[in-house]
Amino acid sequence: MDTLRQLVFGDVAFETSEEHLEFQYKFLCVVMLASAAITGLLVFVSASGSNPIDPEHVRSMNIFTAGSILFWLALRGRKAWFLPVAWGFQVLCVLEYVSALYYVSVDELRAIWFMTNIPGVYLLLGQRAGFVVTLGTALGLSVFNADLPSPYSPNALATLVSGVIFLGFFFHFYADRSISYFVRMRDSNKQLYYMAMHDQLTEVFNARAYYQVCDCFIAQSQRSSAAYAVLFIDLDHFKSINDTHGHAVGDVVLRKAAECIRKSLRASDIVGRVGGEEFSVFLPNANADGAFQAAENIRKAIEALSIEIAPERSLKITASIGVAVHQQPDQTMQEIQSKADLAMYSAKKSGRNRVSSFSGAPA
Ligand code: GH3
Ligand code: MG
Ligand code: MG
Repeated sequence: MDTLRQLVFGDVAFETSEEHLEFQYKFLCVVMLASAAITGLLVFVSASGSNPIDPEHVRSMNIFTAGSILFWLALRGRKAWFLPVAWGFQVLCVLEYVSALYYVSVDELRAIWFMTNIPGVYLLLGQRAGFVVTLGTALGLSVFNADLPSPYSPNALATLVSGVIFLGFFFHFYADRSISYFVRMRDSNKQLYYMAMHDQLTEVFNARAYYQVCDCFIAQSQRSSAAYAVLFIDLDHFKSINDTHGHAVGDVVLRKAAECIRKSLRASDIVGRVGGEEFSVFLPNANADGAFQAAENIRKAIEALSIEIAPERSLKITASIGVAVHQQPDQTMQEIQSKADLAMYSAKKSGRNRVSSFSGAPA
């Protein structure tokens, strides 16, 4: 199955945000191959003499078969070529249907191909192109009917044109609604997922998401025997900020502190808000020295913050940080976190605005 998929679609990867393009790309590859196979088969049947087709139209069918295969080869593995190939293939299709209309006059159902084309145009080229092709098809069939070698009766023509217009209308609204619904669902799912994982105020991970992510990292680190460390950060005398300046100012301070912690770290480090004014940081691949240094960087960055709370009035804050590094092989997140917590309390006890490492015994 994978080999067949690789053969038809080639080496091509799509982002999650490109789900619709992925569907269009794959649909076009399959349609082009199927079209080439069907016309190729009809040419073969005609050549074998069991169902001879007008030689002029056989020439068109050969061009169509070769063209479809060439377009498929051009698109295979190149998603950026989707739009020009889709347009090129659409032009080729219309030429093929016009050829059938002129050269296969004994086939009274030959205009059906114009109808089956319309859904494909909406799916591959979108609403505007679908509208133009629907209108062009309806007008073309009505205006040029009298010039056909075997024109349609007025009833047949009216049925045909009504059918084309109905299909066009249907897909015009269906494509629009289904795509916009799909896009809205995807966006709101993304938003819900973000909201479920992040703290609304500071936008770092909330406690539940943070511990979940840390558990995954710990399981990975245990498999690869990699070191890791946890920092527990508690803002100093935060209650007095609330009491003196109000809760809203306290919120601003929390946001700034979280932003400052994030900026002091590497992109691969994880930050979570685990309590009111308490943050925890998970440092993958960090030893004792590296973790202490990271904590010192955060402490200094917080100390250097100058948080504007009113015009020309700013506030200074500090934090106490506890550091715990991975020591036992089967340590859980809860265990290492409580060690970092104990270290943080020892930093508080020794005067605040400092970093303290877990020393092995409760402080
Ligand atoms: P220490 O230096 O010992 O840590 O003292 P502290 O005042 O920082 O510690 P304490 O635990 O007494 O106070 C934490 C305060 O954080 C109490 C609570 O009102 C406040 N807090 C908790 N969540 C929020 C929040 O979302 N917004 C604001 N503005 N304040 C919050
Ligand atoms: Mg606290
Ligand atoms: Mg505090």
